[in-house]
Amino acid sequence: MIYKRSSALFTAAQKVIPGGVNSPVRAFKAVGGDPIFVTEAKGAYLYDEDGNRLIDYINSWGPMILGHAHPPVVNAVVDKAKKGTSFGMPTEIETQIAELAVSMVPNIDKIRFVNSGTEACMSAVRLARGYTGKDKIIKFAGCYHGHSDSFLIQAGSGAVTFGSPNSPGVTKGTAQDTLLARYNDLDHVERIIMSNQGEIACIIIEPIAGNMGCIPPVKGFLEGLRSLCDTHGILLIFDEVMTGFRLAKGGAQELTGVDADIVTFGKVIGGGLPVGAFAARAEIMNHLAPLGPVYQAGTLSGNPLAMAAGLAMLNELNNNPEIFKSLASKTEYLHHGIANTLDEHNITYTINRIGSMISVHFAGDTVVDFDTAAKGNNDTFKKFFHGMLDNGVYIAPSAFETWFITEALTYEDLDETIATVQKVAKIL
Ligand SMILES: *Cc1c(COP(=O)(O)O)cnc(C)c1O
Repeated sequence: MIYKRSSALFTAAQKVIPGGVNSPVRAFKAVGGDPIFVTEAKGAYLYDEDGNRLIDYINSWGPMILGHAHPPVVNAVVDKAKKGTSFGMPTEIETQIAELAVSMVPNIDKIRFVNSGTEACMSAVRLARGYTGKDKIIKFAGCYHGHSDSFLIQAGSGAVTFGSPNSPGVTKGTAQDTLLARYNDLDHVERIIMSNQGEIACIIIEPIAGNMGCIPPVKGFLEGLRSLCDTHGILLIFDEVMTGFRLAKGGAQELTGVDADIVTFGKVIGGGLPVGAFAARAEIMNHLAPLGPVYQAGTLSGNPLAMAAGLAMLNELNNNPEIFKSLASKTEYLHHGIANTLDEHNITYTINRIGSMISVHFAGDTVVDFDTAAKGNNDTFKKFFHGMLDNGVYIAPSAFETWFITEALTYEDLDETIATVQKVAKIL
């Protein structure tokens, strides 16, 4: 494939935008080469500035679960835009999407909308601190909760890909309040709680990890966290920015049967527009301003265009719950196709999958936490990435990312992808 125009645009971008991108994971630093510039996308396909068509397995890092430019979502945004794009005053559609979200997700009474997953997680932790009157938080190595200061401690995909697990600019004071635990290691969490008795406000976790590849929780892990939290008066925050409205209507809470105290959302909930949200039982949410003392605000929060896109997306998922089953079947089909091919070529790999999230690790051992994810062979991944790209299949340019399956993918697309893996496996 030819990427002449993309490369020229990247050169121009680098002069005025740091690294030529507005979010580091978009650059190809981990795999080499220049990023692809997109002109448009429809369904399961991206079209780039050089006229190439790519089958998309990133889908804007998760939001486009029904495919790009999905008509009900696009129409809702266009209709809304004609009536004004922002008022800074309440609108009915905010209540409509809140009612729908509360009806779909277990265990939440109230929800507040913000503009990104980062904002949602940052606000959720502030709320947990305000509610409990405690300062410290526990997060897990390899989990990503956005780029706010408290979370940039071993923060998974983006941060790890760029070699700065602990970012400069985060003060020692802030870093001290973030305690780091190993994913899927309940004993480790318990030891941390015991040595910080009475100081911990919350545990924040990706209930199904997606930012170190896809790593499901081992049996009993989330249940164990729930009971540790209950015993020690700690709030459990499920960061469902990736998993919310993707794995089921009710996200990971529904799938695992484990209740969180606060849940955060992003990605799918905005249908491709900038939306995040956090939600909890009324008793917790009532601590937020203007009802309570915990401050949180946003000029563009609940923006009508964003709410229109989100509402259209959630309506689609709520009215067609068979989508989740269909997505899981497609993902399983892809899993088996890739696994068979890599087996035929004697390539060492581990594939993790749950629902419509899947990751291919070029590692022999099972991948259960950040350390085992980091053992993957990055040289093999680079060859794999560029091989797929050259044959028209776009996967994330980092070995630490999950692939997001979209309902717009047909079985023909999946077969084409598996055939591409067959071709690429020969050069691995
Ligand atoms: C993407 C992501 C975030 C951050 O969301 P942004 O909208 O990029 O700020 C937070 N948590 C998880 C689990 C994510 O996958």
